[in-house]
Order: sequence, then C-alpha cells, then structure tokens
Amino acid sequence: MCGPGCRVCAQAEEQFNAIRTESLAQRRRFDEPERYPYAAGKHTLHRTDCRQIKESVGRITLYDSVWMQGALTELAHHGTTNSGWATHMRVMDRQEAAAWITERNGPRGGVRYRLCRICTPVLPADK
Ligand SMILES: [Zn+2]
Ligand SMILES: [Zn+2]
Repeated sequence: MCGPGCRVCAQAEEQFNAIRTESLAQRRRFDEPERYPYAAGKHTLHRTDCRQIKESVGRITLYDSVWMQGALTELAHHGTTNSGWATHMRVMDRQEAAAWITERNGPRGGVRYRLCRICTPVLPADK
C-alpha cells in the first residue's frame, strides 16, 4: 500500500522532479510564441498557438503539496502522467524545429512526422 514513507514513491521522486522541471521550462517557452513558434508531440508538428497544444502543455501553477503528492503517486504506481501537470509537447524555436524535422527524415527519404491539420504549421525555412 502507498502511504507516508512509501518506497515506490520515493524511488520515483527523481523522475518526477525531472519531468516537472522540464514541463516548467516548456511552459515558459509556451508563453513566448514569437520566439518559439513550433511545438511537437511524438510525431506531429504544430504551431505553438494550436489549440491542441494549449490542451497538452499542462497546468503548472495550481499545485499545492497534497496535489503534487497525488501526481507523484500516480507516476510511481501507475507510470502515468495524465493529471495535466506534465508537458507532453516540446516547444521549439525555428532552429530546434528544423532539427526535429531532420531527425524524422529517414535516411532513405522516408518522412516520419506529420503536420497538424488543425493549425497547419509552415515548415521553418531551410538554411
Ligand atoms: Zn507510493
Ligand atoms: Zn496543431
């Protein structure tokens, strides 16, 4: 059972803090869409102002410690980060977006990413 001093939770704490730190960094970028106009999930590139992104970046500011403990427990025991605190998106400037695309262009010319059909991002210009 999970309770104070739970070892499973203690072991997940480092991972939890890492995800949270990363989510805070992404969230700050999300507030600067001029500088960071692109955002990407695993396979799909968006514009930062896409409504799907707004739903995925996560709420960061509302937490009290009880709530945080709940989110940690969820991660530790279920391996999930679904409560809205974790960012499942990368928010990127033009250069990073170009690199993201390059990473997803297969060596034989296959393309392994999609452009969002809601926000229809324009690809960053090639250098
Ligand atoms: Zn626990
Ligand atoms: Zn989109």
